Amino acid sequence: MANDKKMVREITPMDEDFAQWYTDIVKKAELIDYSSMRGCVIMRPYAQAIWENIQKIFDGMIKETGHENVAMPIFIPESLLNKEKDHVEGFAPEVAWVTHGGSEKLEERLCVRPTSETLFCEHYAHIIQSWRDLPKLYNQWCSVVRWEKTTRPFLRTREFWWQEGHTAHATEEDARKETLDILDLYEKLATEYLCMPVIKGRKTDREKFAGAMETYTIEAMMHDGKALQSGTSHYFGDGFAKAFGVQYTDKENKLQYVHQTSWGISTRLIGGIIMTHGDNEGLVLPPAIAPIQVVIVPVAAHKPGVLEKAAEIAETLKKAGLRVKLDDSDQSPGWKYAQYEMKGVPLRLEIGPRDIENGNCVLVRRDNREKTVVALDNLVESTQQMLKDFAKAIYEKAKANLEGNITPAHNIQEMKDILQKRVGFVKAMWCGDEHCEEVIKNETGMPSRCIPFEQEHIDDVCPVCGKPAKHMVIFGIAY
Ligand SMILES: [Zn+2]
Repeated sequence: MANDKKMVREITPMDEDFAQWYTDIVKKAELIDYSSMRGCVIMRPYAQAIWENIQKIFDGMIKETGHENVAMPIFIPESLLNKEKDHVEGFAPEVAWVTHGGSEKLEERLCVRPTSETLFCEHYAHIIQSWRDLPKLYNQWCSVVRWEKTTRPFLRTREFWWQEGHTAHATEEDARKETLDILDLYEKLATEYLCMPVIKGRKTDREKFAGAMETYTIEAMMHDGKALQSGTSHYFGDGFAKAFGVQYTDKENKLQYVHQTSWGISTRLIGGIIMTHGDNEGLVLPPAIAPIQVVIVPVAAHKPGVLEKAAEIAETLKKAGLRVKLDDSDQSPGWKYAQYEMKGVPLRLEIGPRDIENGNCVLVRRDNREKTVVALDNLVESTQQMLKDFAKAIYEKAKANLEGNITPAHNIQEMKDILQKRVGFVKAMWCGDEHCEEVIKNETGMPSRCIPFEQEHIDDVCPVCGKPAKHMVIFGIAY
């Protein structure tokens, strides 16, 4: 038992130091390791398995809606990157450059892709000729590089894994629809699978993606009240098409520019899961993406029949489609309990000689430690139901945290007072002038998160300039 306590004690309590708690978890739950490549992380098997589960779910969604996966080069020639002015200005400060091939200096520098709009545009210019070629609904799963100065595992690293969708459409209407359809898929992924409630909305011009006409976002609230931008979808209009010459002939045989979108989610979602659901004992994983949904821990495993029964149960649950691990190692049950709590496994199944005698086992929920005695006869149904209840409970808990920490404010002083009490989101009206947004950010430290689709009327006027308000905006400190 000394081991179990030691393991838990090594996590800093989240109320004491949230940042340290986070760092402790990513190490102790065996999600990442560091290497001599600073600013990058090694995704260990447990983190990679979570990411693969997220990938499977979202890849299924986009395939079902007609998207196709491709693989683009990792390098972008400087001249290609320079073709769209706003885009290059936005990314230039954090681009990594390749200057040599072997010992030879390259004639042109190559950037390691920070995002691949330019490559997709060049490709689209080659393969799109007529209206019959549209739409093009491409996506790629890859890693990208942004030379960040301060990094944190999953949230901000110099290399990270993501998907980037890039689509080309005949009309503005089609492209706008795509942008919002994808945002809906991101919302579905976050809420239904990751149990993370989000606020859907549009970014202000100040916060939008470099080169985009409009950026849409899903914003989640972490346990400490800070925001995590969890997925973005951009509408480009025909700006990129004009810069790269992506044209098609329409049904009247007239030459037109395509309208484009791009959209992405990344491994920062794993950081979001940690900070939304985790507690002082470690991770708490949503069942849909948990690499192990049920861990079976035999009790008094040396007694005859216990391991056999545990193996039989594991088979039954696996056949029902559940992700199950039977831990028949020689560690003590107490050590195993602490270990799988740290790893956030949603359900623990305990089975010992007395349970077998009674035709039962015990299921223990990771989120509230609730123990339920379950008949082995309908174990599959009970387990599936309990996983559903678990997912609903952690979603509701996160939703209460989000909804309980959005406070209306009528002036800057109120915003400061709210933040003094507890970090959270502030909702306030805004005139639409970038200067007022800037003032709020400088005075309170909160950039705007989004103009939510669900608008409320808090006031008639902008809290900064007193001019008539146009929108309600959510402000918040962000990761
Ligand atoms: Zn104003």
